[in-house]
Amino acid sequence: MCGIVGYIGPREAYPIIIEGLKRLEYRGYDSAGIALFDGNDLKVAKTKGKVVDLEAIVEKEITTNGKVGIGHTRWATHGVPNDVNSHPHVSNSGNLAIIHNGIIENYESLKQELISRGYTFKSDTDTEVLVNLIEDVQKQQKLKLGKAVQAALNQVVGAYAIAVFDKNKPDEIVVARLGSPLAVGIGPKEDEFFIASDASPFLEYTKNVVYLEDEEMAVIRFHKPIKIRKIEDDSLVDTYVQELQINLEQIEKGGYDHFMLKEIHEQPKAITDTYRGRLVRNEAIIKMAGVEDNMKRFLNANRIIIVACGTSWHAGLVAEYIFEDLARIPVEVEYASEFRYRNPVITENDVVIAISQSGETADTLAAIKLAKSKGAFVFGVCNVVGSSIARESDAGAYTHAGPEIGVASTKAFTTQITVLTLIALRLARAKGTISSSDFRTHLLELEMIPKKVEKALESDANITTIANIYKDVSNFLYLGRGYNFPVALEGALKLKEISYIHAEGYPAAEMKHGPIALIDENMPIVVIATKKGHYEKVVSNIQEIKSRKGKIIGIVTEGDTQVRALADHVIEVPDTLESLSPLLTTIPLQLLSYHIAVMLGKNVDQPRNLAKSVTVE
Ligand code: GLU
Repeated sequence: MCGIVGYIGPREAYPIIIEGLKRLEYRGYDSAGIALFDGNDLKVAKTKGKVVDLEAIVEKEITTNGKVGIGHTRWATHGVPNDVNSHPHVSNSGNLAIIHNGIIENYESLKQELISRGYTFKSDTDTEVLVNLIEDVQKQQKLKLGKAVQAALNQVVGAYAIAVFDKNKPDEIVVARLGSPLAVGIGPKEDEFFIASDASPFLEYTKNVVYLEDEEMAVIRFHKPIKIRKIEDDSLVDTYVQELQINLEQIEKGGYDHFMLKEIHEQPKAITDTYRGRLVRNEAIIKMAGVEDNMKRFLNANRIIIVACGTSWHAGLVAEYIFEDLARIPVEVEYASEFRYRNPVITENDVVIAISQSGETADTLAAIKLAKSKGAFVFGVCNVVGSSIARESDAGAYTHAGPEIGVASTKAFTTQITVLTLIALRLARAKGTISSSDFRTHLLELEMIPKKVEKALESDANITTIANIYKDVSNFLYLGRGYNFPVALEGALKLKEISYIHAEGYPAAEMKHGPIALIDENMPIVVIATKKGHYEKVVSNIQEIKSRKGKIIGIVTEGDTQVRALADHVIEVPDTLESLSPLLTTIPLQLLSYHIAVMLGKNVDQPRNLAKSVTVE
């Protein structure tokens, strides 16, 4: 998510930071800010909007002198994007300035504690809590900044890359990382340091870089060599300075050829970020304020109506299975564009869940307005904090997937399913429709999904081979049943979107009622045939395809032999609960469409005719 930049050394910090922030714009953000020490005092400028808006404000409001500074592009997670919530955040005394990427999960309890000690807060962010916690520790325990940051971070649960400095000691910047990236560029002038989320902001100055690992921190001092320590016990870590060989564009895409591929590979982290702070397995609970605060509305609901478009609609279909299966609440899934124009029956006892990555999808927004006008309770599931749908909804939950830049949605889909699963599980627990042991099993399995997604991603070479065999066909069929029927739809959509090959997704058993007529020896058919979930029935469907000479690509559970014996190709995914299987079976389908599109020379990140966020009807 978003970007951080810092500088300490003999040069003017401002141009380095501003240009650095521009380099990080590709990461997606909603506000920008900067803090400089001008030789006398701390100067802070920040604003909702783009880095050019920040430049305009800086020109009006502050001097740009200073050899120490930090800058930030924010991608809001806690608090809407506005000037006050933008970073840097300054501590109550006015001494400390911080920039932060990530999420402090236990910020609410820390905030209450600090309020009881007299601290006040201007913003809604978790970050402002952290900077005041550092200040509090610094004062209470009379610690130097580095030690205070360390002690504070040891109280924090969550993810962060931070840079913080004290205007009373402006010859040092303290940096730390857990879960969000942080790079320190060294030189070329003697003992100058560049800090950034990745090396792109400082590549033109230096190619020597140290990447902090998780749970590491450093006090970066003017004129002193960098020393890296473990946050937990202060032990010194070997400093490994790498000489970078890569170019700017490669860095922006994290070394991947396309944003889509990067985002596919980000899914383990994105799913973790989505359940972070919500799934508390050792206490066997799910904490979601938006659900908790409105529990009555959910429990009294006649039904849940899910409205969405495109890939989000597919996530909604998966949710239909989960809600009905686990929480026993009737669900209807609607295309927002149809729902809004078809005079639907909506009552005050309906709960409408609106799903949209951008939170700006015009049809979904209109559907929400319609539902609200009929008195329904509207719950939004969006990725972009403070988006129109988030604002328009009565309550909601963010997916925390980080900015998604590739037009074909990947990590937004799996994180939407993650959020919807959490909601379904929470409601199932409240309704008593799930036993406590089943509930625990679900929590455990959900927590293991990121590792299993990593495993699923290892099939990349196998999938590339399959892509190469079928890249020139004109039609594809995708089949799945139960929880994996929506995944078949999503697999087909992904292929259409980026390779322009015609593809259809179908419920496997429905194939007999039409699509079977299309099958011949030229037709590849992707069949999702994982062990749990109507396996034997799907195997029979595979037999039917084989009898008609269709080419079968089976998505199977690790170790499967039955489908392997029938299929032309198999792609394995790890075993999991049936209800969570879409989070794994989706992965090979994303990779298959990606590789086919690349082989066909298509513009994967910006396919023709498509827009990332459809803000028109
Ligand atoms: N959680 C912080 C906020 O909402 C940081 C978000 C970010 O990574 O930009 O301000």
